[in-house]
Parts: sequence; structure tokens; C-alpha cells
Amino acid sequence: MKLAMIGFGQAGGKIVDRFLDYDDRTNSGIVRAAIAVNSAKADLIGLDRIPEENRVLIGQARVKGHGVGADNELGAEIAEEDIDEVQNAIDAIPTHEVDAFLVVSGMGGGTGSGGAPVLAKHLKRIYTIPVYGLGVLPGTDEGGIYTLNAARSFQTFVREVDNLLVFDNDSWRQTGESVEGGYEQINEEIVRRFGILFGAGEVGDGQEVAESVVDSSEIINTLSGGGVSTVGYASEEVELNTSGGLLSRFTGGDGGGGDGLDAANTTNRITSLVRKAALGRLTLPCEIEGTERALLVLSGPSKYLNRKGIERGRKWLEEETGSMEVRGGDFPRGEPEVSAAILLSGVTNVPRIKRLQQVAIEAQDNMDDIQEESDENLEELVEDDEDELEPLF
Ligand code: GDP
Repeated sequence: MKLAMIGFGQAGGKIVDRFLDYDDRTNSGIVRAAIAVNSAKADLIGLDRIPEENRVLIGQARVKGHGVGADNELGAEIAEEDIDEVQNAIDAIPTHEVDAFLVVSGMGGGTGSGGAPVLAKHLKRIYTIPVYGLGVLPGTDEGGIYTLNAARSFQTFVREVDNLLVFDNDSWRQTGESVEGGYEQINEEIVRRFGILFGAGEVGDGQEVAESVVDSSEIINTLSGGGVSTVGYASEEVELNTSGGLLSRFTGGDGGGGDGLDAANTTNRITSLVRKAALGRLTLPCEIEGTERALLVLSGPSKYLNRKGIERGRKWLEEETGSMEVRGGDFPRGEPEVSAAILLSGVTNVPRIKRLQQVAIEAQDNMDDIQEESDENLEELVEDDEDELEPLF
């Protein structure tokens, strides 16, 4: 699937930058165009891969290239005011070759948190292709304002996109890591998971064609209907060349297409990977029961993929989610691992979001109280008790 990616704010830009890197490394061909939008000049300069002409600085009249702090209302305002500048950059990309837009942002900050939903709304008005969001939730240790920003951005972003894919920094943060080092790993996780999903069906030069292909329309159908999505992933190392190896001597080379692999083993490996992916750490932790639609992508060397395994995995997912719309297919890749990536679309039982909203409301109430108190305190400090002094003017 070919995407036009637009990274809004610092996190958004960095993640799109990583997607370009992933695309180069894996020859996946998913990023047809990449744009970064920011109100902070330094963040745009810090990007590696996104072409300079595709880096758009907005809000110069208001914030002079210094960013909006964590003020996401200001982020939304300047996005609206300067939407034409973003559109100019989009006009320069071949949108007719693109299957969908992906607007990427960290929802806890200011520029991306406020701006990404504004851009999504704008894109949906102009284009007929789907507009997806990839929204990153802040860590719970980032504090009240980030939580409040994320809760408000989440609510707005979901409404404006065709589907919001969510990644929760909180469930991926590593203790004892520097923030930057931590983000590097997290961003790698993000591009791997979403890269495999969107890369399925995008056959590059010299790559094998899948037996049961996942094409763009299946990804689009899984994401259609809106709502919130999460992605599960699990992988296992395998040997690229087993012919003549130990494995083939044990199994006698039957049933695996004559390449020395046991079909039952292959099937079992796939079904156990599907379970691990669905029940392990998701990009947004949630209960998978009640998921509306799902897509299962099995990737790896083609001799390790079989239809029976995918079919079993799909059936199991149907039972676990209760969904009647579980699609599946394979994505042959010449890497020494077999992996299962599962897109769970339309998830609704997400305790993490409910907690986020609760903390956000508390933060909002606290901030109102503090503001009120500080107004009173200031008045008490500045005014004399008996009102004997008069201001100059
Ligand atoms: P903005 O530039 O005002 O949009 O704000 P940022 O993008 O700098 O930060 C918004 C939120 O994104 C932060 O609260 C973090 O939770 C998260 N964040 C910042 N940088 C990264 C990153 O490189 N990767 C990930 N996954 N999250 C990030």
C-alpha cells in the first residue's frame, strides 16, 4: 500500500523520518511521499530523511519558529491559519499514486496534538482516498498537561480520520533508558509493526509474490468503518536455508513443498505466532474481544508460510475477537524470521483510554483550581488590606 505520510510536530516528523529509513532498508515501497510540518524550526532541521522542500514551517507570524510549547489549542489555531502552506507541499506530491494519507503525531504535545486533527479534517474535505491517523499517547509519567492534551487530541483526531491507529508510549517505555535512546527503540518498533502491515501487498522488484496476497483494498476494508486500531506482532527466527540440514533429516522432507520442512511444524509455528501476537503487547493495550475487524499478515520466507496455518490463525482470531470480518494473507520476505502482524480495527474495550480521560479531567480541574487560587493570591498580595492605596492609572 502506498502512503503519503505527513508527520505533524516533533514526534510525527521523527517517526515519518524512520519510516523512510525502514523503506530504504526493506525495499517495502510504502512511503510514496513524506512531509513534515512543525512550528519549531529546530525540530525540522533535526530531521534526517525527509527532503528539505517537504519540511513546512507553520505559525511563523505567531511563534517565530519557536514552537507552541505544549499549547495544543495554539497548535490547532496555527494549523488552521497556515493550512495553505501545508497544502502547497501536498500539491507537489503525486497524490494520484497514493492509496491513503497517514497523518502521524504525538498527541501529548502542542503542534502535532492540535495540528494533526486539523490537517486530517482538511484532507478529508479535499481528497477521496482514506485519511488515517497514527497517534502516539504520552507516557503516564509525562504529567498532567500532556495527558490532558492527549485526551483532547485523541477525541478530536478519531472524529476527523477514517481510522486512528494508536501507539501507547507508556506500555513501551523502558526503565533506565534515556528518553532519546528510549524513543529510538520505540520508533523502530512503530515502523516495524506498521511497516509490515502497510507493506503487505506492495511487491517490490525481485520480491516473491504471495500465495494468498494481502492487497491494499483488504487493508482499507479492515480500516473502514472508522474507530480506533491497535497492532499486535510476534516473530520467530528461522533458518533461511534448511535443505540438507538437521530439520530435513528428521522430517524426511515431506509435505513442505519438497524443501525439507514439515508442514505440521510450519502450521503450528504460524498458529502459535498468531496467538503470541494477539495476546502479547499491542501498540495500544486493550481487550481484543469485541474487535470489529481484523487483518492477519504472516511474513517470512515463503517456504515457512502455508495456507493452512494462516487459515487456522484466522479462525482462532475470529473466535477470540468474536468478529466475522477477519482477513488474512501472507507476505513473503527474504528475512530469516517468520512473523505475524495483526491489525485489530474498531476496538472499544480500552481501559487505558478511560484512565487517560480520568487523569485528564482531574488535571483540567486542578489547573482551573490553581488558576483561580493564584488569581486570588495575587490580588491579596498586590492590594493593601484597607484599600488605602490607589493605582497610578
Ligand atoms: P509537538 O512537537 O509540539 O507536536 O510535540 P512532540 O511531538 O515533541 O511531543 C509530543 C509527545 O510525543 C510527547 O509528549 C511524547 O509522548 C511523544 N514523543 C516525542 N518524541 C517522540 C518520539 O520520537 N517517539 C515517540 N514514540 N514519541 C515521542
